[in-house]
Amino acid sequence: MRLFSLLLAACFFMLAQASAFAQISSNSHSPVRYSTEHPLRYRIANLDPRLQINQQQMIELSKQAAAIWEKDTGQNYFVYDPEAEFAIHLVFDQRQIRSMKRSERLNQLEQEQLTWLNQNQHLQQLKESVARSATQLELQKIEYQTFAQNQQQQRSSVKTLFMQKQQKDFEQQTIQLHTRIAEHLQLIQQLELQTEKSKQLYQQLAASTAEFNQTFKPQILHKGQFDGEKIFIYEFSSIDDLRLTLAHEFGHALGLKHTQDPKSLMYPRIKAQNAKDFKLTHTDMELLGFSR
Ligand SMILES: [Zn+2]
Repeated sequence: MRLFSLLLAACFFMLAQASAFAQISSNSHSPVRYSTEHPLRYRIANLDPRLQINQQQMIELSKQAAAIWEKDTGQNYFVYDPEAEFAIHLVFDQRQIRSMKRSERLNQLEQEQLTWLNQNQHLQQLKESVARSATQLELQKIEYQTFAQNQQQQRSSVKTLFMQKQQKDFEQQTIQLHTRIAEHLQLIQQLELQTEKSKQLYQQLAASTAEFNQTFKPQILHKGQFDGEKIFIYEFSSIDDLRLTLAHEFGHALGLKHTQDPKSLMYPRIKAQNAKDFKLTHTDMELLGFSR
């Protein structure tokens, strides 16, 4: 029976429908259980060091989560008190381990993508260089041909010292043209190599992405839970995510149900909310009994 009610109180943040989960029954007439006069006093339970967050940081974060509810309402619903009965537990188990691995892998994936983008940019630049080089080479060829024709005409008329110099210039031009052609061929070779490299990187990236999606398939997950006496947080992907998850559970502690507004704090899933700088939506305010 107890287990059943615990399950009902759980928040299905991932993939869950905005349905009857986590609806806490309240006998009180007022929609909200706490107020400035009767705030909820809470403490932070011992933190597993693997969470990489210490007591002081967590206290600060819990105050930020509380402030989300307090800023627009002018109420002080929550008070941190190290002696309080009501505790916030951050649970470190497979759920959090998976979440940490996912974040790490996602970072790597983003790095891979960045590398590919850079290499691809390099490829584009090489393509442009080859195109420019081809144009220049074409011009140089025309110049060379003109020079060669002139040389031919002059050879048939007079043979002077001046002509010897002309001959030297012509040889010089021939060498220059050959050098230019060699450079151009080298550039084309570079382009071919870079094309191959970019292609391989892209294939790697596609494979990594597929592997990531396979390993971290979305699943139904209880990120947080309020059981009437305690708050449990089972998973968070970042500090912003943790703040919002806790604020959501604080909402349940106040006696609030879920909304159907994806941007609201009391929506059963954290996805569309602005986690960095969250402000209560009008649907959240309505739950609190504020109309508009
Ligand atoms: Zn919930």
